[in-house]
Parts: sequence; structure tokens; C-alpha cells
Amino acid sequence: MAERLQKVMAQAGVASRRASEKLITDGQVTVNGKLVTELGTKVEPSDHIEVNGTPIDSKEKLVYFLLDKPRGVVTTNSDDKGRQTVMDIIDEPERVYPVGRLDYDTTGALLLTNDGELANKLMHPKYRIDKVYVAKVKGTPTNEQLEQLRHGVTVKTVQNGRHHVFKAAPARADILSTDKKKHTSIVRLTIHEGRYHQVKEMMRTIGHEVIKLTRERYGMLDLDGLTPGEYRPLTHEEVQLLQ
Ligand code: URA
Repeated sequence: MAERLQKVMAQAGVASRRASEKLITDGQVTVNGKLVTELGTKVEPSDHIEVNGTPIDSKEKLVYFLLDKPRGVVTTNSDDKGRQTVMDIIDEPERVYPVGRLDYDTTGALLLTNDGELANKLMHPKYRIDKVYVAKVKGTPTNEQLEQLRHGVTVKTVQNGRHHVFKAAPARADILSTDKKKHTSIVRLTIHEGRYHQVKEMMRTIGHEVIKLTRERYGMLDLDGLTPGEYRPLTHEEVQLLQ
């Protein structure tokens, strides 16, 4: 993505953005060997930038965090209703982005990174990252209903007045417990797709509304050691395994 030269210089730690602008207008900066004195100049990551003959390292440090997303937080950069976003929780110098989405009321494992290449790869259905959800649902699914999920249920939804139909890929589905008095059950569902409200829609299709939803695992990343609202950097090995 093309970025303003002074921003790239500042991110690389050359100087503040304003001081970088002065370096540009003073004629001390070259891009691909050409002197640049215009402040509007944009550069690509592949461009070679030198300040006074010294190349800058314009590559931003790649960072990876696993957040236990709490309820009541949106998974977007900004929210037009002014609600808290996951980005408000991550207090780091790098600007990171969530890999995929969790609903406002869903808790659990959410990966955030500034590694756009890896994020795009992980979000591609081809990579089939297992996502393990634990859902509290109304009633108790029967074996036949669980079998529907295991075979791949056809979901029909209406979003913004438009009808959508999709066949979910076969999922792993098991009942963990049942509360007979409250008429609720806890179901574990493993899917590798990531459609909008996918788990809720799959459960609704078999007749069991989701009351509460947590993603307890994203690939090999689980929530061990984290409580909702906490996050931790991935280890080097974890990053390697995701590649
Ligand atoms: N499926 C849902 O319905 N909601 C989520 O947040 C994630 C998966």
C-alpha cells in the first residue's frame, strides 16, 4: 500500500513526521535514487529510500497478539455508534487489525496483527483454520439435529432484507452438558469457515437459539492464561506454526 514518504520515514524511526518533512524539503531524501522534495510524494513498500545516503529500514516490525475478546466490544477499527472496539484494548505502538470477526456479544480467541499477508492467508477458506466455539443454546439438540451439523447444514438467512442461502461445511458438534431445569445446553462446535453469525445461524437452523457464545480456540491458539479483555503476544513458535 502506498503511503506518504514522511509517514514511512517516521514509522521507520528516522525522525518525527514534521522533522521528516523538513528533511524532504531540505533535499536530503531520495527514493529509488531520485531526489524528492515534494511533501505529497507517496511510496510503496518496495521503494528504496535513503536519507543523506543512508538507506532506511522501512519495514514495520510485525507483531501478533491473541486477545480474549470481552462481550460488548466491536471487532472493527471504529464504530459509528461510539462503542468500544478491540483496537481500544490493544495498547501497543503498532497498529494492528483483527483477523476475522467476532460478534459484539461473543467472547473469546481473537488474533490481531499488522501482518497483512498472514491475515489474508488465514482468512482464506482454503487454509481451513479450525475455530472451536462453545455455545449455550436453548433446549437440547437431538442426535439427528447434531448429525445435520456434522453433515453440513443448509442455512437460510435474511440480512438487510436480502435472502442468503449457504451450505455450511461439515462441523464437529457435541453436547458438553445439559441444564434440565433451565432448558439449556452447552454445545461445542468446530468449524473452519467464518461467515457472518455462522454459529448462531447454524444453531438456529437446527432449532436451538444461541444464548451465549465463546470462541475457545483459533487453530492451535487457546485462551489458557487469559481472561476476557486480556491479551498476550504470540510466541515465535506460534507465529511459525500459523505461517
Ligand atoms: N459465529 C457467530 O455466530 N458469531 C461469532 O461471533 C462467531 C461465529
